[in-house]
Amino acid sequence: MIIITFLGTVSGIPSLKRNHPAIALEYFTDYRDVLLFDCGEGTQKQLMKSGISFMQISKIFITHWHADHFAGLIPLIQTMNLENRKNPLTIYGPEAEKFVSDIVDLGYFGLRFPVRAVNVPFEGSEISLVDETEDYKVTSIPVFHSVPTVAFCFQEKDKWNIDENKLKKLKIKRGPWLKKLKKTGKIEWKGKKVKIEDVGYVKKGLKVVYSGDTRPCRNIVKISKNADLLIHDGTFLEEDVGEKAHADVKEAAKLAKKANVKQLILTHISRRYTDLKELEDEAKKVFKNSKVAYDFMKVKLKT
Ligand SMILES: [Zn+2]
Repeated sequence: MIIITFLGTVSGIPSLKRNHPAIALEYFTDYRDVLLFDCGEGTQKQLMKSGISFMQISKIFITHWHADHFAGLIPLIQTMNLENRKNPLTIYGPEAEKFVSDIVDLGYFGLRFPVRAVNVPFEGSEISLVDETEDYKVTSIPVFHSVPTVAFCFQEKDKWNIDENKLKKLKIKRGPWLKKLKKTGKIEWKGKKVKIEDVGYVKKGLKVVYSGDTRPCRNIVKISKNADLLIHDGTFLEEDVGEKAHADVKEAAKLAKKANVKQLILTHISRRYTDLKELEDEAKKVFKNSKVAYDFMKVKLKT
């Protein structure tokens, strides 16, 4: 299961109701993992208000180095340090090594835990593997903004689940050996050779994509194919797009349709809009399952 919490949903200038961009992704399996995507000003307080422990965050993914997406890193790292964090923190992003080193050199942090940086490619149209665990991987692709920017994709790996009916039919009993079978694919049980496909079925992993700031681009469609959720820059209404760094809600909806995603959530909303319904209706004309994010909105995804 995945729970997404929108900690900040405004574009460049914050408002009283909307904080700068940050999205927490909580992944629940045998354990709980917390990943943070972007970290605008005030993110640590937004985390506190949402009840998500910032000490549990082990990875932060920065889409680009505009202050509205990273300025929250400085106080967040300082608080982690004051709270005696020992576990390493890894920060991923385009040119991350340069910017993370600048940030930790900025003041007298006296860091007592390792802060690592991992550069992510920001040119071309290839999907890059950024991080991988036993249960999921995070990939990235360059997008089209005024500075080096990437979109990130959280992809849960497909898993074998045990089918009770198949077990009954074969007169096989449950037990810890099934866990081993899921790992090895085949096993001998009381003299019987059992393959995982005899007793299991494949549970498709969840897929979530976060665009970062971007004009509409083909790379978004490429990385979002059949995603359960696409979170996309929807800064403006169509008639208000006067610049070349962001997407309007209609453009984002067209991409969602093209990529055949299940759900679209628009974020990075300009402070000029107070009527979210207007934005949502505009997107829904193109892609029905569209929503506009607001601060502290939560989305639960299950397979
Ligand atoms: Zn921005």
